[in-house]
Amino acid sequence: GKRTNLSIKEQRETLPVYAMRSELVNAVKENQFVVIVGETGSGKTTQIVQYLSEEGFNKGPDGSKKIIGCTQPRRVAAESVAKRVSEEVGCNLGEEVGYTIRFEDRTSPATKIKYMTDGMLQREALNDPYMSRYSVIMLDEAHERTIATDVLFALLKKATVKNPDLKIIVTSATLDSDKFSKYFNNCPVIKIPGRTFPVEILYTREPEMDYLAAALDSVMQIHISEPQGDILVFLTGQEEIDTGCEALFERMKVLGDTVPELIILPVYSALPSEMQSRIFEPTPVGSRKVILATNIAETSITIDGIYYVVDPGFVKLNAYDSKLGMDSLIVSPISQAQANQRSGRAGRTGPGKCYRLYTETAYKNEMLPNSIPEIQRQNLSLTILMLKAMGINDLLNFEFMDPPPANTMLTALQDLYTLSALDDDGFLTELGRKMADFPMEPALAKTLITSAEFDCSEEILNIVAMLSVQTVFYRPKDKSNLADQRKARFHSPQGDHLTFLNVYRAWTLNNYSKEWCKDNFIQERSMRRAHEVRKQLMTIMRRYKHPIVSCGSDLVRVRRALCAGYFKNSAKRDVQEGYKTVAEQTPVYLHPSSSLFGKNPEFVLYHTLLLTTKEYMHCVTIIDSKWLAELAPKFFRVADPTKLNDQKRNQKIEPLFDKFAKSQDS
Ligand code: ADP
Ligand code: MG
Repeated sequence: GKRTNLSIKEQRETLPVYAMRSELVNAVKENQFVVIVGETGSGKTTQIVQYLSEEGFNKGPDGSKKIIGCTQPRRVAAESVAKRVSEEVGCNLGEEVGYTIRFEDRTSPATKIKYMTDGMLQREALNDPYMSRYSVIMLDEAHERTIATDVLFALLKKATVKNPDLKIIVTSATLDSDKFSKYFNNCPVIKIPGRTFPVEILYTREPEMDYLAAALDSVMQIHISEPQGDILVFLTGQEEIDTGCEALFERMKVLGDTVPELIILPVYSALPSEMQSRIFEPTPVGSRKVILATNIAETSITIDGIYYVVDPGFVKLNAYDSKLGMDSLIVSPISQAQANQRSGRAGRTGPGKCYRLYTETAYKNEMLPNSIPEIQRQNLSLTILMLKAMGINDLLNFEFMDPPPANTMLTALQDLYTLSALDDDGFLTELGRKMADFPMEPALAKTLITSAEFDCSEEILNIVAMLSVQTVFYRPKDKSNLADQRKARFHSPQGDHLTFLNVYRAWTLNNYSKEWCKDNFIQERSMRRAHEVRKQLMTIMRRYKHPIVSCGSDLVRVRRALCAGYFKNSAKRDVQEGYKTVAEQTPVYLHPSSSLFGKNPEFVLYHTLLLTTKEYMHCVTIIDSKWLAELAPKFFRVADPTKLNDQKRNQKIEPLFDKFAKSQDS
């Protein structure tokens, strides 16, 4: 790109927001709430907080030191943007400019500009509901409508009543700004004029059967026949992206020197930051760059020099599945708004092209105009636990921009109740308050707290750390047999959680060796991340005085502690090789990657469900059915299918909802 030859100052001054600098600063001075709309890449995320800092917003009216905060829905964005802004400001990351994401805090007392995930700011509200440390909070990427951003809308609006000096900025890449403005007392909306070039949209004539293959074909075709310009491909997740990268390498190898160089780069949230920075490096003359990314590249990070976008039209969503009564990862079609964001990525540097791997009819008739806000499709137990911990009990009058469906709230309340986080009146229990201290789903928090009581917190910490990283094992196609053999050496006959424990232990016993990871087909960076997560979890455990103790070889304790948190994910063997969930009687299956595959024990619990051709249980462990009644009496009473049919259960729970969700702040 040409702009890389410019100084940082010049680069900053060419961005569309620069022309609006004084208008933006004045608007924030004069209004408590401001909505800002601007195209991706116009400079909202990196510039606005700097302008405010330059204009003295780091001081409160009494001269006290204040932070300018900016939230991001994704941790990669928080990290990469903070890094960029620290370079622009000319400081070390973590000094004047820093970031905070789950399990990682790179801020210091000197920090003036702080990027963070929306989840982390939501967590801060637990201890500082009026946001007294901040002068300005920018809720960035509000169009993404994550649960945490939606909850922050309401929390921050509430905070401004008690803290009238606090300024709130809401930014969005799309034109849904009127809704935001209305919500924030009809506040002003500032539009940053765009600077975009036309993008030619090409559709397929027939629906594609295999979108990954079609995407890779498109990349090769562009590379061979189109003029210079980088390519951005939208895929759904890490595995797909890694597979795609490998396949492109292979194809390029076959072509050899007959075509120009193609630089193949993956982008997803689990990618280490050294790799992430590579996507921003300018493409050498004569070469072409292709970036295979998740929907993180839709609006959260901007990559210059993209002329071609390949859009298969899918995204992986964590969505609540009412049939299962829980969240499940599913690959689903994107919305029209997302399709337009994606194609827009091709028109930032010059006129571009977008290859949509779906038909025009599908775009017009099958895609929703906008995505459904997360709050309306995901499990809310963590959110409700946090709200209850903030003393917000009147959920029906909580000012959600789009209130979640009553059913979703009901399920969350019921989950918290069966976990004993809520008492019979719907108030937070002492256990529930402790659970809220852990930045993770309530079932996992409960497991950790219980493990301390069961004298196996050492083991559970290892397992939880391993569960929090994305992929541990890898399986190269040409060595899949060897990889499977190596993996089998860690297998525990009791299931996959203990297999993870075995891996973690073996890694520490082998001095965290890189070689050892390679020999065993284990992702070293996943292990390192697990190690980091474990350290952070230890800090929380110590801070709240939960003892860290090992159960030695008495691993039944470990499985019981898991059961105390994950009883809802229990399943009983059904006819043939299938299982049925104890709670909803839904058919589920052991995933072939499980160490229990083919062994079919009678009762199991699983960590997650993965829907592909059928509902697969991922990470599965044997349990004893007696534990359910013992460790989760409330769940067992509600869920025992022999005692209650569906209708009766609903009758029992309806009054529970009335009691739990209605005003009780007396
Ligand atoms: P917006 O938030 O409006 O989408 P940003 O502030 O994120 O825009 O980005 C503005 C510009 O800053 C981008 O167009 C890009 O040129 C540059 N930029 C952002 N992040 C980086 C980075 N990590 N490395 C290099 N350039 C970057
Ligand atoms: Mg941005």
